[in-house]
Amino acid sequence: MNIALIAHDQKKDLLVNFAIAYEYILNKHNLFATGTTGKKIMEATSLKIHRYQSGPYGGDQQIGADIANNKMDMVIFFRDPMTAQSHEPDIQALIRLCDVYMIPVATNLATGEILIKALERGDLQWREYVKEKRSNI
Ligand code: PGA
Repeated sequence: MNIALIAHDQKKDLLVNFAIAYEYILNKHNLFATGTTGKKIMEATSLKIHRYQSGPYGGDQQIGADIANNKMDMVIFFRDPMTAQSHEPDIQALIRLCDVYMIPVATNLATGEILIKALERGDLQWREYVKEKRSNI
């Protein structure tokens, strides 16, 4: 599965620790991230991550484009709800596309834990079915 990892600055350590804890699950998948998030996770783990632009420079939109192009299966996006973001419209657009295309998205650690465990159990195999259907449209 193709998984996007994004964290706002105040949540980056949290996502890095999440990636360390669940490296054994994440390393079975294709990983993508916004620039700084991906750099920090790669520094702390052995995970290979395709890095897009930093979020404020279009990284969220690049991940959104992957969703629209049927190339993303899950988004783990630890948002900082206490700090105004310069690229708030991009963030809203990304979350919106997750809803449009029914992409499992976690915006905090609690949901992230649930999604990653579902991924480990293989509960998200239905995504392959949805992807296949979409590619035939
Ligand atoms: P970053 O982008 O990983 O490049 O910091 C994340 C964001 O702020 O959306």
